[in-house]
Amino acid sequence: MAVLGATGSIGTATVDVINHLNVVDPQNRWCMRSASGHRNLNCLTQMAQSVQDAPAHLILSDAQAAADYCPPPELANAKVSVGAEALVEAAIDPAIDIVVAAIVGRAGLESTLAAFEHGKRVALANKETLVVAGPLVRERIEKSGAEMLPVDSEHSAIFQCMGTCSSKPKRLILTASGGPFRTWSTDQMDAATPESALAHPTWEMGPKITIDSATMMNKSLEVIEARWLFDLPADKIEVVVHPQSIIHSMVEFEDGSVIAQLSPPDMRLPIQYALTYPRRLPCQSPPLDRTQTWDLSLEPVDRERFPALDLGFEVARVGGTAGSVVNAANEQAVGLFLNGEIRFTDIVQTCRRVLENHSYQSDPSLETLLELDRWARKETLRCCGQIA
Ligand code: NAD
Ligand code: MG
Repeated sequence: MAVLGATGSIGTATVDVINHLNVVDPQNRWCMRSASGHRNLNCLTQMAQSVQDAPAHLILSDAQAAADYCPPPELANAKVSVGAEALVEAAIDPAIDIVVAAIVGRAGLESTLAAFEHGKRVALANKETLVVAGPLVRERIEKSGAEMLPVDSEHSAIFQCMGTCSSKPKRLILTASGGPFRTWSTDQMDAATPESALAHPTWEMGPKITIDSATMMNKSLEVIEARWLFDLPADKIEVVVHPQSIIHSMVEFEDGSVIAQLSPPDMRLPIQYALTYPRRLPCQSPPLDRTQTWDLSLEPVDRERFPALDLGFEVARVGGTAGSVVNAANEQAVGLFLNGEIRFTDIVQTCRRVLENHSYQSDPSLETLLELDRWARKETLRCCGQIA
């Protein structure tokens, strides 16, 4: 396997799953052949040291850090390389069957696309790839026969529910925890600090997705992700708030039956299923505690307090260049918010403005999408008064 983004929240959980699979599935050898860690050399070394077979290839983003790297003895034979091309090289390595796409944001796009192009099984956490370039992913899968296995818990849930029925679903129902501001007024959200937005009630995740959960832009990105993952139009996708994060999503079938997938909020389960599918093996994720009273509630999303949802459905409907623009604007705006440059509620408003300011194309090339990504980041800075 190649674990791209091995030092992040999904990456470290994946390493945990690999070590576990080597115990519960000893007839297969689960091996992290390559691992990337951006700038976090210590954590990358730690991840690489913790697996049974030392990785043969380590990838960093910083040339100086790579040049200065003094590997511990067990990693002395590992090749150390740098940058986006090295990520692609790891993703298409013929010795690799599975690519875990766990880099955050648009930075994961090229390596994930390359993995699809080369017919790999892709355990997809990097939802931004589908948001930016959903149709291009589907095109590559069709040509190469690659497998796309969702890691995102909602999409894994839908994938699992769909496995119970051979007919096409009538509707996908994505659940959302509602994030830390589920009950806050817009005025309160206007004044929200990065610390309060980073305090997610049910999931421990990287900072970008945690802020996306607070704005509900994460659910918006997930609507777009579901649109391309399952090849269903936006009007067949719904979102409901489920604060306990136990029901990970549901599928409604033609006869009105709704199938749900339930488990505690622990990413090791969807990660493991993406790796072992169609097999189910014992998992480290604890079982649901059925000795307690269950309180599982569902409530509608307040679209006024969380305008990100309308934006997401719109992008899922129109496709084309919209996903690339909104994704880039959101990544840039989240960065500005975390640096204290803009208010929390400016994030989604800015994404909307940047989307409206762009010239839409319905069938863009990868080059156009990447160019618009760069444009949208600058346009976000301009809209937020950071540049002239
Ligand atoms: P994280 O911030 O914890 O980790 C991100 C990883 O990407 C790290 O390994 C980091 O080194 C690497 N990275 C960051 N910028 C990079 C760059 N410019 N170039 C190369 N590598 C870079 O994020 P995360 O929470 O693990 O999320 C990873 C992806 O998984 C995201 O797309 C997120 O939406 C998705 N996801 C995460 C969760 C979760 O529970 N954390 C759940 C569902 C989906
Ligand atoms: Mg999710």
